[in-house]
Amino acid sequence: MEKIDCLIIGSGPAGYTAAIYASRANLSPVLYEGIQPGGQLTTTTEIENFPGFPEGITGSELMEKMRSQAERFGADIRTGIITDVDFSGNVHKVIVDGEQEIEAKCVIISTGASAKYLGLADEQRYMGMGVSACATCDGFFYRRKTVAVVGGGDTACEEAIYLAGLAKKVYLIVRKPSLRASDIMQKRVLETDNIEVLFEHETLGLFGENGVEGARLLKRRGQIDEQEVEIAIDGFFLAIGHHPNSDVFKKFVETDELGYIKTIDGTPKTNIEGVFAAGDVADPHYRQAITAAASGCRAAIEVERYLKTK
Ligand code: NDP
Repeated sequence: MEKIDCLIIGSGPAGYTAAIYASRANLSPVLYEGIQPGGQLTTTTEIENFPGFPEGITGSELMEKMRSQAERFGADIRTGIITDVDFSGNVHKVIVDGEQEIEAKCVIISTGASAKYLGLADEQRYMGMGVSACATCDGFFYRRKTVAVVGGGDTACEEAIYLAGLAKKVYLIVRKPSLRASDIMQKRVLETDNIEVLFEHETLGLFGENGVEGARLLKRRGQIDEQEVEIAIDGFFLAIGHHPNSDVFKKFVETDELGYIKTIDGTPKTNIEGVFAAGDVADPHYRQAITAAASGCRAAIEVERYLKTK
């Protein structure tokens, strides 16, 4: 069985930043990339709000740069998925791809979160060509255009309000006759002139030649006045929630009711000694590349301190 000091799980900005810091601290970290090498950012287009890139940078390029920076200092970056863990002892055991066992003194969980999609084939077809699950990342491309946001929770309201500041018009597509969001967010949405809430609408599909040009919706499914309608849009934003990728750790690591890993007093420490969490898997609030990177740095510093005390 392989024995290491520092295992990093996940290859988004949190994981790679942790790898940069841990390798520069001579901890010889091993990083497993997981299901989506480079993480969520590889599904977005241009990133314009990551400091240091005044001209912008694509998500994939940014992640490639972080990866090579980690490799430059000796991080051992591997392809593989952690399929099981045992955090019951003093050292932490993980299983890679259902077969290989590794023992690590410290583990940084930076497995991120995945946006939920409706499951329509058109979402895949127009991914990066009008379909997005991150208004902060992609909203800028829809200045003075028309977009739709799907969802009725706080995230959807927040994204709709954000987009309303950029776009000409925003449709909010809500499956129920009411919003689930907090009162204050509902009020803001309803008072924003260029947001039109389409209650009791479901999305059937998207259409367009070289990108999204419109959506086909079903109004009041199953009712006597059920009706198919089309709206002309340039962008289609999903805001129906995220899944933190914490399932495999839940037997040992405490999470909140939504599955986000609980950390102690604003540090990356979890309830298990030597197990740390960084990035979106422990962050339901900010979910930005820069905040994830910062928490990866903090986790690596905690690992270094922890190993020194042991
Ligand atoms: P929520 O789970 O609160 O809301 C998800 C929304 O998406 C619901 O309106 C739900 O509809 C809708 N939805 C889910 N699946 C589908 C589907 N298949 N088709 C159509 N609609 C669908 O997620 P959020 O991400 O909005 O929020 C997560 C948590 O984070 C919440 O606790 C929220 O309060 C919090 N939050 C707080 C913020 C703030 O305070 N500013 C900002 C963002 C999030 P339905 O209502 O019909 O189930």
